[in-house]
Amino acid sequence: MPFSSLGLSDSLVSALSQYVAPTPVQSAAIPLVLKGGDVLATAQTGSGKTMAFVLPLLQRWLATRMEKPRRVHTLILVPTRELAAQVTKEVLRCAVHLPERLKVVSAFGGVSINPQMMALRGGADFIIATPGRLLDLVDHNALQLNHVSALVLDEADRLLDLGFADELSRVLALLPKRRQNLLFSATFPEEVQSLADQILHEPTRIEIESAPAEMPVIEQRAIEVDTAQRTPLLRHLIKTEGWKRVLVFVAKQYTAEHVADKLRRHGIGAVAFHGELSQGARMQALAEFKDSFFQVLVATDLACRGLDIAQLPAVVNYDLPRSAVDYTHRIGRTGRAGEAGVAVSFIAAESHAHFCLIEKRNHLSLVREQIPGFEPMDQAPPPSPSTGGIKGWRKSKKDKLREAAAGL
Ligand code: AMP
Repeated sequence: MPFSSLGLSDSLVSALSQYVAPTPVQSAAIPLVLKGGDVLATAQTGSGKTMAFVLPLLQRWLATRMEKPRRVHTLILVPTRELAAQVTKEVLRCAVHLPERLKVVSAFGGVSINPQMMALRGGADFIIATPGRLLDLVDHNALQLNHVSALVLDEADRLLDLGFADELSRVLALLPKRRQNLLFSATFPEEVQSLADQILHEPTRIEIESAPAEMPVIEQRAIEVDTAQRTPLLRHLIKTEGWKRVLVFVAKQYTAEHVADKLRRHGIGAVAFHGELSQGARMQALAEFKDSFFQVLVATDLACRGLDIAQLPAVVNYDLPRSAVDYTHRIGRTGRAGEAGVAVSFIAAESHAHFCLIEKRNHLSLVREQIPGFEPMDQAPPPSPSTGGIKGWRKSKKDKLREAAAGL
């Protein structure tokens, strides 16, 4: 089915000439969004979800574009600053041939608020924002949200979880009650379903179970290795596997700096990426990684959602992710838009039980590998009766809040 048969105007279709056809989530979502109803869409990482909501929202904007002054009709919320920048780029790319200039303002923290306030003078058509900065702008009277007719939650389950709960409810209170709600994500854990239901009004649910031909080809590997041997093993794999670019996930900011430093000392171009860096440094690291200025980005879970890095052949879980959902998002940074990719998880003795849990939740069963020269020697510690949890896996503040909220 071509893009032109989905109800999109020629000016939008002409911006899509690089694509042969819509992806399944685009074919399903575009006509529904054009009709104006609420949609909850679940489709794999890298399956073209952004354009599945951007294209029909641009089409709908075409119908109201003569309205002056400009009022914010479309609000796209995202969980990270980098994703705000990425979605903004995608909107502008799709809007390039529209008959009238679309005004898009991207609003995220970590940078001065003044340019964003200036940009909002005279209104805007689309706002793409992280919730915190959006609220700051409202508090500064830089924008009003009482004309929003379409709200998108991109990476919706992340925005609905406890970390964003206060900010999201404040934003929702500022919006008109009658509006279109579009929730998109690759994952929708059960605990956020009921919150989603509170936002949505008679939604159509789209669940794209990709056919094998459309599935991203992500080879998943689990390699057993001692904790102390992970950096040497990483160096070994970078060399022997011939990965041109690797995204390495670690649990802590300190580890990101430490591992990047160790790699650089061995002549491998590596940069750390985490929330302690200035926004300028974050943007630069990501841009330079995308432009292949260096080979390895060592990141915390700040980089696990939504980032679209073309031709990324490998993702390594140096530390395992805290949750099974984060595992899905992390490995989904590779194997995007039909490319192949490999996702390697390092399994140390103390994280073995945790990985089994991740496998169980994701219906996976991976063969454990050992790499000659890096065979593990450590023994798994006995289970700890005191915590009742998995040994070596301390509960985060968020985990504790979640348990308290669930009355556990
Ligand atoms: P997303 O899931 O929105 O992050 O998109 C993942 C990647 O797929 C991006 O690089 C898009 O440019 C690309 N993409 C989006 N739509 C299509 C399409 N119809 N055909 C091929 N690639 C696409």
